[in-house]
Amino acid sequence: MRIAVLKERAAGESRVAATPETVKKFIALGATVAVETGAGEGASIADADYAAAGAEVSPEAVRGADIVLGVQGPEIAALAGANQGAWIVAGLDPFGQRARIDGYADAGYEALAMEFMPRITRAQSMDILSSQSNLAGYKAVIEAASQYGRAFPMMMTAAGTVAAAKCFVMGVGVAGLQAIATARRLGAQVSATDVRSATREQIQSLGAKPIFVESVAGIEGEGAGGYATEMSEEYQKAQAELVSSHIAKQDIVITTALIPGRAAPRLISDAQIATMKPGSVIFDLAVSQGGNVEGSQADQVVVRHGVKIIGFSNTATHLAADASALFARNLYNFLSAFWDKEAGKPVLDEEIGDAVRLTQGGKVVSERLLGAN
Ligand code: NAD
Repeated sequence: MRIAVLKERAAGESRVAATPETVKKFIALGATVAVETGAGEGASIADADYAAAGAEVSPEAVRGADIVLGVQGPEIAALAGANQGAWIVAGLDPFGQRARIDGYADAGYEALAMEFMPRITRAQSMDILSSQSNLAGYKAVIEAASQYGRAFPMMMTAAGTVAAAKCFVMGVGVAGLQAIATARRLGAQVSATDVRSATREQIQSLGAKPIFVESVAGIEGEGAGGYATEMSEEYQKAQAELVSSHIAKQDIVITTALIPGRAAPRLISDAQIATMKPGSVIFDLAVSQGGNVEGSQADQVVVRHGVKIIGFSNTATHLAADASALFARNLYNFLSAFWDKEAGKPVLDEEIGDAVRLTQGGKVVSERLLGAN
């Protein structure tokens, strides 16, 4: 069983899908690990560290591989020399990269999309969306703080008092919860909103104020699989009114709202931005999925009505070392949980296998992906 670790080729991608720690663990399972030369550079991991962990480090790592690990889905060309039927295990962006997924099927690879990991308790440690969103929520606040021309905490000084920043977090999933916690640690006054009623208590437990649409019912409890759906027009209207009255008083707004397989919901309009104080900062974590904020542009600081709107196309990559360490553990936790000692390779069960498998036997087999056609 040969596991290859790719050097990421996508622009701006600094993460890597395995670390010396996970290399050692894969070897302990009986696998051989080959790492592409320079794969860990962006995450500050030297080739020598992989070699010391027992990996073969080579530009030809993929040759003869049974499993190829990546952070993002590789181009077909990067897989040349992999074995027939090899597994491609990565964040494959199934909805955004459909043509590439078809290419994996045509080439006979078995593509496993880690972002399709079901949200069940035993899969939590395998969930790349959670591990990366958590870091992204943290980074969004840090970045917003660095773009903000004022301080976050209240400071009483001999020269006068500095007021605490008011921070509003929209969308309280994994990223939103970490954004609330980070903004609180920095001393901001934090409020937050979501469409799922289960988040109200979570917001309060972090010491922030819940701001909810009360006139129209949102999503009961957690929502299906923890995910939100598109909201009714009536709800959207009530939400827009709520946001309008709240946002004018905010200094920092972090938006994180996503709906799987769809464009991100628009939460803040240009007219609403115009009511904010000049110098305020908005970080749009959904910018690469179409954006929650009108006018946001990936990897740019856009100034509208004196308000800075920022967002990274790939937020976790800005914390490449930690993001790689967690991503690598997610992949190890996934493959090792299914490791069949006798077969010397992982054998997936139905619940998780069927959820993450996109292609097999030359065809696209994922019901979720086929259902989105
Ligand atoms: P996400 O990234 O899909 O979305 C971010 C948040 O935006 C969600 O809370 C969503 O409800 C919210 N949102 C969507 N549309 C909105 C709108 N119009 N207005 C306001 N908010 C809106 O979510 P996520 O971070 O992946 O997590 C969602 C839930 O799933 C959480 O409760 C999380 O704890 C749970 N989860 C469970 C597991 C597991 O059990 N294995 C793994 C990951 C997440």
